[in-house]
Order: sequence, then C-alpha cells, then structure tokens
Amino acid sequence: LDSKYQGLDWNVWTELGQLYAAEGGVNLGQGFPDYQPAKEIVAELAKVCEAEDYSLHQYARAYGHPRLVKALASLYGGAIGRQIDPWTEILVTGGAYGALFYTVMSNVGRGDEVIIIEPYFDCYEPLVHLAGGKPVFIQLRQTEPGSSSSSTWVLDSEELRGAFNENTKAIIINTPNNPLGKVFSKQELTEIGDLCKKYNVMVISDEVYEWMIYDGNEHVRMASLEGMWERTVTIGSAGKTFSLTGWKLGWAYGPKNLLRNLQVAHENCTYMCHTPEQEAVGAALEHELTLLTSEKSFFRRIREELTRKREFWKNAVLQSGMTPIVPQGGYFMLVDWASLGPKPDLSTEQGYEDVKFVKWLAKNWKLHGIPPSAFLSTRNKNNLGLGTPTVPTAFSRIKNCATLRESLTA
Ligand code: PMP
Ligand code: GLN
Repeated sequence: LDSKYQGLDWNVWTELGQLYAAEGGVNLGQGFPDYQPAKEIVAELAKVCEAEDYSLHQYARAYGHPRLVKALASLYGGAIGRQIDPWTEILVTGGAYGALFYTVMSNVGRGDEVIIIEPYFDCYEPLVHLAGGKPVFIQLRQTEPGSSSSSTWVLDSEELRGAFNENTKAIIINTPNNPLGKVFSKQELTEIGDLCKKYNVMVISDEVYEWMIYDGNEHVRMASLEGMWERTVTIGSAGKTFSLTGWKLGWAYGPKNLLRNLQVAHENCTYMCHTPEQEAVGAALEHELTLLTSEKSFFRRIREELTRKREFWKNAVLQSGMTPIVPQGGYFMLVDWASLGPKPDLSTEQGYEDVKFVKWLAKNWKLHGIPPSAFLSTRNKNNLGLGTPTVPTAFSRIKNCATLRESLTA
C-alpha cells in the first residue's frame, strides 16, 4: 500500500457490505431507501432518453448543466437570502462525496488543521489526511444522561474555542448530522461562525440531509449567517434528496474564489457529470420551486414520510428492549443496546464492542447496522460521548415494517 494510504485502508461500508452479502436479511446500516424514487423525477429521466435532442446524451458544461445550475441557484438563493451566480458559485459533482473530495483536496494544504466534529461521516478524516492536513477532533456529548433525543448532544464551548488557532484552515460541519441526527441550532452555528471569522477559517458545510428535518426543527444554513457566505462551501446531494442514491449526483455552492479551487480540481478529474441525470434533476427542481410553499412540495412530503418511518422504527427498537436516540433530522437512528444486558454473546466476535455487536446482530437477527466507532477518531473509538454502546441504523429503508418487527422481537 502506498505510504499516503497507510492506516486509511479500512472502510466500514465495504467491510459491512460484505457481511450483508454473506448473511442476507435487512440492511439498515448504509443509508439508502428500499423503495422507488419519486415518479416525477424518474419520468424526467425517461423523457431525456426519448427526446430528439442528441446533446442531452453528450458532454455537459464542465461545472454543471445550465438547467441544473440555474435551478440550484434559485433554490439556494431563496434559502440563504442572496443571489447566487449559477456560473461561478455552483459546481455539480459526482455525489456529495465528489464535492467533499474536491473541497478538501483543493483548499486544504500540507500542515493545515481541519476541525472535525465527532461523531462524523467517516470519509472526512481520511480526506484530510490525503490532502496532507491534520484533523483536530472535538466531540458532541450528551448533556442529559438518559435522554433519548439527539437534541441534548452539544459541543463544549471551551473545547470548541480551544480547537482554533492560526494553523486552522477549515472546520467541517454536518447538519443534520450522520450518524447522530443532530440538527445544529442557529445559536450553535453562530458560535462556530464567530470563531471562523476570528481565525479566518473556512467552513465545509455538509448539508446532504437538509430536507429531512422533524418535529418543527429548522435547518439553518451556515452560509445564510451574517459574514459567513464569504467563507462557506455548502454541499448537497440529489441522491439523498430524491431517494436515488445510485444516481450519484451532488453539488457544492459558495463564493467564487473558493469554488474556483473545486472547479479546477473537477475539470482535471472527471471534467463533468452525467448529462441526462442533470437535466432530469434540473427539471424536477424547477417543478419543486413552483411548489415549495404548497402541500404538494416534495420536500414537505419527504419530511412527513420519514417522520412516520422514524416513529415506526423508534417503537420497534423500544419493543426489542433497546433504546433509540431519536434524531431531529437525517435518516439514521443511534440505538443503545446496553439494555439488552448479557443477551448478545459477543465472545466469538472481533473488534470494538459495537463492531462485535453489529456482527452478532447480523448473524443472529439478520439485521445490519453500522458501528458508530467508524465515525469516531482513534482515541474515542470506545467513547461516543455517551458511555454506553450504540449502533446507528437507517430508517429510510423501512418498507416492509412487518418483517422488521418480527426480526426485532424474535
Ligand atoms: N455526506 C454525508 C453526511 C452522507 O451521509 C453521505 C452519504 N451517506 C454523503 C455525504 C455522500 O453522499 P452522496 O451519496 O451524494 O455521494
Ligand atoms: N454513508 C452513506 C450513508 O450512510 C453510505 C456511504 C457508502 O455507502 N459509502 O448513507
């Protein structure tokens, strides 16, 4: 293995994907829906395939197909209350992963420190290492022991302040957070933003679950806060938004000077993204823009549908004797299994406690989760800030509720 990849060659999705392939059952670990995406958007793709316009099957504009970047500029311009230039302030990428890769690779240099908030979407840490940077971890911790809501997990102000110094280049925020489901409040984001202004730090704001917000919580965009547009790259995902993760289409938006770095990385990598999908997502977003405040809004429908699934999953987990940490957003739920006591026999499994439990769960209950240790830095692999073991699971995938209930209560 090349030296730059030393220590980075274990990937939780690859390893547990293999376990799922071997054991079968219900996979609630990797976050993707097990139902059809919205008919409207699939119909748009079908239209592209049938259209006479050959150009929709050829290379698109490198930084994003015009129909899509214009729709994204309207959508996010409205959401953050400023005009966004579709030509210079948006880049369409190969999923949010692509946007994260370009943002980190093109803006972080050797020796730069990047603050990462634990628990974090696992690729942030290797990406910072690959760019030659140094991750600096701070941890969300549960402030009300026994609480079963992600809302009681917060950063300690002193620890947050202490993470910033003159070498800090960037901080990565993920709201709603994967895997905890925490939705950062305006006050929390303002506190972080003020430190970024003080130390001249950029924000990489991963908002792929931006429309999946429950219980009247509000999704606050870092880029909408005063003085933050200038220093924030925000990342979104059509795959997550429209329940078609296999389409692998995402984007980044932000100020021209920061976006230019991403554009140069992109035009020397894949150069452009899949034209038919960009046309279809552009058309679907144009349609959604006319519905945003109405009952028919697709974004509203996702919230309602996932709220129901979250409720179902929470109750199923409770019935099984485990304790859910109910998320304010996103489609994962951490589940504390300490209450099962000695029932799971983990003596034959290998790895961190949660990895052993995930393997036991897969083999015995045919239910697949993801161990949260994959979302924690080495020093915290056994410490989620809660003190008890947990396993995140996705509720986007609960189509067959009856089977799941059987599996959980067996
Ligand atoms: N960021 C977060 C927080 C995610 O959970 C995911 C997907 N699980 C991604 C980025 C990547 O999204 P995409 O599938 O669009 O590449
Ligand atoms: N992390 C994604 C999710 O949780 C999946 C990532 C992957 O498959 N590599 O939905």
